[in-house]
Amino acid sequence: METVDLLVIGGGINGAGIAQCAAAAGYRVMLLEKETIAAQTSANSSKLIHGGLRYLESGQLPLVRKSLADRKALLKLAPSLVYPIPFYIPVYENSRRSPWTIRAGLSLYAFLSEFDPLGQFKSIPSIHWSKIKGLKLHGLKAVYQYWDAQTDDQLLTQAVIKNARTLGLEVIEHAKCTSIAHKQRHCLVRYQHEAIEHEVEARAVVNAAGPWVNQVLETVSPPLSAEPIEWVQGSHLLLDIPANDGILYLESCFDKRVIFVMPWKGQTLIGTTEVPLTSLMAKPSVTPEETEYLLGIYHHYFSCFGDIAALKKRLIGSFCGVRVLPKQEGKAFDRPRDTIQKVQASHPNLLSLYGGKLTTYRTTASEVCEWLEGTIGKRQTLADFEKLFLD
Ligand SMILES: Cc1cc2nc3c(=O)[nH]c(=O)nc-3n(C[C@H](O)[C@H](O)[C@H](O)COP(=O)(O)OP(=O)(O)OC[C@H]3O[C@@H](n4cnc5c(N)ncnc54)[C@H](O)[C@@H]3O)c2cc1C
Repeated sequence: METVDLLVIGGGINGAGIAQCAAAAGYRVMLLEKETIAAQTSANSSKLIHGGLRYLESGQLPLVRKSLADRKALLKLAPSLVYPIPFYIPVYENSRRSPWTIRAGLSLYAFLSEFDPLGQFKSIPSIHWSKIKGLKLHGLKAVYQYWDAQTDDQLLTQAVIKNARTLGLEVIEHAKCTSIAHKQRHCLVRYQHEAIEHEVEARAVVNAAGPWVNQVLETVSPPLSAEPIEWVQGSHLLLDIPANDGILYLESCFDKRVIFVMPWKGQTLIGTTEVPLTSLMAKPSVTPEETEYLLGIYHHYFSCFGDIAALKKRLIGSFCGVRVLPKQEGKAFDRPRDTIQKVQASHPNLLSLYGGKLTTYRTTASEVCEWLEGTIGKRQTLADFEKLFLD
């Protein structure tokens, strides 16, 4: 039977980042993915590498600071995959957030980025507002420009895996973890690959199964408790409308949530929604209500492209992903977006990850590798994780 130091379950961005960090630290690592690399949430995000300006409103300052530091690192380490992009925030007479609030938020954002050059923001003179093609000008009081970054989430995850493989990572796709027996000093993991049941002995296991994290925990023996979570679907629509050069940060005309209108491969991408799910389908799909909601907001700001029926004819694609949020009272929009790492005293060699952001996968990976070192000891380092270039 094969023996590894670390077995990672899940080939999304978190599993990939942890596997890369651990392989760089000299551990023997295997990663199991039930589908293919980045087939789920990590291919269906809003594709932003960002601090998350809107998280300032819910007081998540440490998360924003951490995300901005990760943004800086990724712009340096993956320049062909993560690139700066301007954001525009139009403020109207009836906007919930006043120009003063936006200016205060952007100043705090710049401060939390430790005055990174990307932290610069400005008010766009009214003479230039019409350069944002099609944007409603009636009632417009101010337009602010600031900077964040965009990526192709699936390509980024694949690039992390490609790099980790050069450090010895073994990846098995179409391999579903079916059970984990937690022994005194290791875990015995079973997985199904090509209709055959396999076994691997792992000194430590990281459960990075994204929305399926608790399903994986249900297969653990002796049994252990799972964190109460909620699944919240987020959808995006792609319209056959030539994109603006930056991202529009818009306040929903229905419920004042923030949605983005983004350039994506030359076309216009709109997202996202927040729809609580009661069960997890293999491939969630965009509901008619979500389509109406997103097109309704787009039409409110870009009425020159026709009514909802005309916009539906220009719909060329859609996708959705599932967020894992801690189960709490209140709106999903205001829930914490930080990653939760859970290890139980009865199962010290098994760590489960809940939630998080694409942007912060490197910080999460470093923290998990600290836990790994504390749990199974250090190895001879192969490479400096802080310097691993991605292409
Ligand atoms: C709509 C939406 C928009 C978002 N936008 C952004 C954004 O713009 N910026 C940002 O920073 N973050 C964003 N996020 C958050 C970010 O996308 C996620 O935090 C991140 O992709 C989660 O990655 P993951 O690796 O934890 O999960 P996933 O990518 O879901 O990976 C988990 C993997 O585990 C596999 N798996 C499950 N069970 C098993 C099993 N038993 N055996 C083997 N494999 C298994 C699955 O197939 C899957 O590939 C967004 C999230 C959503 C839903």
